Amino acid sequence: MSVTHPPQVESQIQLLPPEAARDIAYYRERLADPSLLEAAVTVRVLDDARLAVPVGPGRLGGYLPYDVLVLAVEARELLTGLPGFPHLRLHWSPDGDVCHAVEWGEPQPDTDDDVRLGRFYGYRESAIGEYAARRRACAHRPPCPGAGAADQEAARVTCRDDVTGWARLCNGLVVFSDTGALAPDGTATPPRRPEPTAP
Ligand SMILES: [Zn+2]
Repeated sequence: MSVTHPPQVESQIQLLPPEAARDIAYYRERLADPSLLEAAVTVRVLDDARLAVPVGPGRLGGYLPYDVLVLAVEARELLTGLPGFPHLRLHWSPDGDVCHAVEWGEPQPDTDDDVRLGRFYGYRESAIGEYAARRRACAHRPPCPGAGAADQEAARVTCRDDVTGWARLCNGLVVFSDTGALAPDGTATPPRRPEPTAP
């Protein structure tokens, strides 16, 4: 008996050589050690091809941001086993304007110190300020309150999942439909439940 297989659905995400990435020049100009690019790969989603830069001399970690969680999951699978991409995991994007990310290497230092962060990713000293500005970009006017501000929950929503009941705000705060919240530094705000009333 012959079995008919359905036609293979071509994956919308694939690995390509580093030269295929639209942002390879960005990294070539800004990495302190451009030889890192020799082991880099391009992750292409539809017609958007971006570079995944491995860890190596002077670069302790890396990430690729994605708006859609399933793409971050697929990118993690594609990068699994490649040299320079250890400890692949899914995380919130360090870039304020994007929701998810696939990360590799050491965890990003828990700091707002731009110089420390820029060095962690192996950027030249002259490129660190530019990286830091992009990381915390808020293009909203008026600008969103920070994650530590009293009105922190007034920041705009950058992504949300109504099924599981959470939303991530522009300042990195994650708010839950039960009114609890989780700050980027890991501080949890318990849900505000009404006071129990006496029977
Ligand atoms: Zn904003």
